[in-house]
Amino acid sequence: MATNCIFCRILAGDLPGSLVYRDEQCAAFLDIHPINPGHLLVVPLQHASGLADLPPDVGGHLFRVGQRLSLALRQTIPEAEGINLLLSDGAAAGQEVFHVHLHVIPRHRGDGSGF
Ligand code: 5GP
Ligand code: ZN
Repeated sequence: MATNCIFCRILAGDLPGSLVYRDEQCAAFLDIHPINPGHLLVVPLQHASGLADLPPDVGGHLFRVGQRLSLALRQTIPEAEGINLLLSDGAAAGQEVFHVHLHVIPRHRGDGSGF
């Protein structure tokens, strides 16, 4: 755990977070500033600041979990006509929290949420 990392602190229970999923390698919680309702972040339990630090099998696992959560969101949120899976690696790519996270973002036509 990186004590100065917001997501490590959420995973450790030191900071509040709306956890919706957890297994032995990753967890998912609601984004505090959702682009649309149901916007989730899938994060590895072990701190990795970027893709270069992330074991490839964990990266694959994050994507598998993101895929499953996408399907669950499509089934439970009527407005979720589509999903964006997004991972920003590096400040130049828009990464603001330096603990790897896969965004799972419900989308619907006309929601005006561009990237
Ligand atoms: P990035 O720009 O790094 O890909 O995305 C970081 C995301 O983390 C943003 O969507 C932001 O809303 C979210 N975020 C930042 N701080 C917190 C927090 O304390 N709790 C939660 N749940 N999400 C956060
Ligand atoms: Zn961390």
